Amino acid sequence: MNSNDAQNKAQITPVKFGLDNTFKFECHKNISCFTKCCRGIDIMLTPYDIVLLKNKLGLSSEEFLAIYTEPKLLEKTDLPVVTLKLLDDDIRSCPFVKDEGCIVYDSRPTTCRYYPLGVGTLSHKEGTDEDAFYFFVHEPHCKGFEEQKEWTVREWRKDQGVDIHDEINEGWADLLVLKRSFPQNVMLTDKAKQMLFMACYNIDKFREFVFGSSFLKLYAIDPDTVEAIRSDEVALLEFGFSWLKDVFFNKEEKVYPMNGQEVEKRKKTGE
Ligand code: SF4
Ligand code: SF4
Repeated sequence: MNSNDAQNKAQITPVKFGLDNTFKFECHKNISCFTKCCRGIDIMLTPYDIVLLKNKLGLSSEEFLAIYTEPKLLEKTDLPVVTLKLLDDDIRSCPFVKDEGCIVYDSRPTTCRYYPLGVGTLSHKEGTDEDAFYFFVHEPHCKGFEEQKEWTVREWRKDQGVDIHDEINEGWADLLVLKRSFPQNVMLTDKAKQMLFMACYNIDKFREFVFGSSFLKLYAIDPDTVEAIRSDEVALLEFGFSWLKDVFFNKEEKVYPMNGQEVEKRKKTGE
């Protein structure tokens, strides 16, 4: 987790790590700093984080977003992202931290899983680590670095289950990286931002949109995909990323071409 706490500023170690670099670290319940890293934090939630957390808490994505998150615009991209809303106490605690630890541990966000590592790029792709690198978030209160257990970055990612998170979020990370590669004055319309927000973060609303509107008439989507996204939230999430990429960035060959007849019909009726 990245601490914003002014009295406890994180020192970002200016060393880039790759997957096979090693470090010594261990975190456990008997360590003197247990849960200190869960206060004064700034956690951007990934789309898959939201799916796991809202299911863990038995909420709809709409309810989860309203209760636990704050919307932001990602620097240099003008893209909507969401961060975890902290409690209004003196130490700005995470809403999920209790004396006994994290109450959503098995569904904790990607950033919490990576800690004490930070990710130097959003475009991590398994097997193509040329543009993925990691760095240490050294916070003075964190005693985990005094422990002797040694990890490679690769082992740490697997142990924390963050490799699966990155795989599922890959299409979302691609969208952020693609938009960041555009000149900053190329802005998305408000409607485009709303669409992106819905497909990436409000999965229950996106499902309603796909199955409750004329979406499936407008786009030529094969029946297997339709069946998969009807019942599988991760498949729906990944479909959403690839549909957004099609709409915003694929100028030539579309993965999901529009149905010509439906487009003509809409032109006539002015829809
Ligand atoms: S989600 Fe869990 S691990 Fe992450 S900051 Fe909150 S309490 Fe800590
Ligand atoms: S060792 Fe570091 S990561 Fe673990 S509880 Fe302490 S401050 Fe948090």
